[in-house]
Amino acid sequence: MRVSAYPIGAIDKKMANRTDQNQGCLTSFLKLFGIQLQKESPSVSEELPYRIRDDFLSPAEASFYHVIASVVGERAIICPKVNLADIFFVVRPNENLAYRSRIAQKHLDFLLCNPKSMQPIVGIELDDSSHTRKNRQARDEFVDQVFCAAGLPLMRIAVQHSYNINELATQLAQYLDDITPSREDVLRAQSTQTITDSNAPAETTLCPKCGVPMVIRTAKRGQHKGSQFYACPNYPQCRIVLPFP
Ligand SMILES: [Zn+2]
Repeated sequence: MRVSAYPIGAIDKKMANRTDQNQGCLTSFLKLFGIQLQKESPSVSEELPYRIRDDFLSPAEASFYHVIASVVGERAIICPKVNLADIFFVVRPNENLAYRSRIAQKHLDFLLCNPKSMQPIVGIELDDSSHTRKNRQARDEFVDQVFCAAGLPLMRIAVQHSYNINELATQLAQYLDDITPSREDVLRAQSTQTITDSNAPAETTLCPKCGVPMVIRTAKRGQHKGSQFYACPNYPQCRIVLPFP
């Protein structure tokens, strides 16, 4: 049997102390800037209406999470409910258009990341019956196109009462078995691509990820300090760099 470490009265006191501590932190922080709080200041006494959701993951998502966790083991980190705008960025010169807001409202169910680099490997959408609705289908189609444009694989898996672990393992193997040493390497290998255009210099190095001309930068520190290299103008969202000839 498990027993709470604190008798109920003690928990109440503990909570009260914690509230006092929070206010104490705020007060001393504001003092640093010469701001004195009034005792009855509404900003401090106000209780904000936030609580922890008990349905952070739906039962179907939670059960799938455990299945997928047993399949990937330590080969990937599973991030649930990731905003698409945290995964993708809009390539220049389109950043002022509505492209970002089209992804900012959307979440991916699960993102599998390389455990070392935390680079995204594959997205997983758990499709329940809502995915057959017309507006949902349009949303899914758009999400599919976003993944395709960015070159990130997306797996769609139908919600089931039980999952075939072997089948899932086979589907995921192609992404997990040969993780990222190659992904960036492949991009770099493709980077020798050049374009010729009447408005562009005779030979322009394109970012292999974004397809835009790269810019020449000079290393400010580190062992290559002072040497030049090609960088993507979409930095820091795109961190592709190439050696300057
Ligand atoms: Zn780039």
